[in-house]
Amino acid sequence: MRGDTHLKIGVAALTGSVLMGVVNLEMMPLLAGSVASVLPDVDHDKAAINQALHMNKFLYALMGGIALYYAYRNTGHISAKTAVIATILIAVGFSRHRALTHSLMAIAAVFLLMQPLGGQMQYAVTIGYASHIISDCFTDSGAELLYPSKKRYKAPITIRTGGMAESIVSIVALIVVFLNVFMILRYMV
Ligand SMILES: [Zn+2]
Repeated sequence: MRGDTHLKIGVAALTGSVLMGVVNLEMMPLLAGSVASVLPDVDHDKAAINQALHMNKFLYALMGGIALYYAYRNTGHISAKTAVIATILIAVGFSRHRALTHSLMAIAAVFLLMQPLGGQMQYAVTIGYASHIISDCFTDSGAELLYPSKKRYKAPITIRTGGMAESIVSIVALIVVFLNVFMILRYMV
């Protein structure tokens, strides 16, 4: 699924969560959640997020390696926080597309890693991230939900990435965003 479709679905899910009272109407968590909706595709060099950041998988792995090297060289040890971040960067660098970052394990990891930032940030980012994985399951390529198992899971009804059906889904998601924002402005502000 294209990055812009993921973003629209993510924002639709987040604004829907605001309406349901799961997430508060706060700028930072909603922005972070929107970014999280395109984040799983860091495992694909040509993904919109990597193009925007001028990043690729090799550079993620390299950054992880450099972080470990400098942490150890400067302090003589590697803190748990550095080890976790470096491990994630290196794992992304070596991951197949729609594998590690598209798994239920990744959703759980995002939920746990966001905990120190508070409930609102934790919920919004997890909702944005999970919206990506769920929507990829509705494409014909599916997602490796139970990574490291290579089995790809997909919904009974799927669409082709970049096809006509995706364009329709993208428009529908945008309409849902507008309706949600209208209702938020009408009833919650
Ligand atoms: Zn994806």
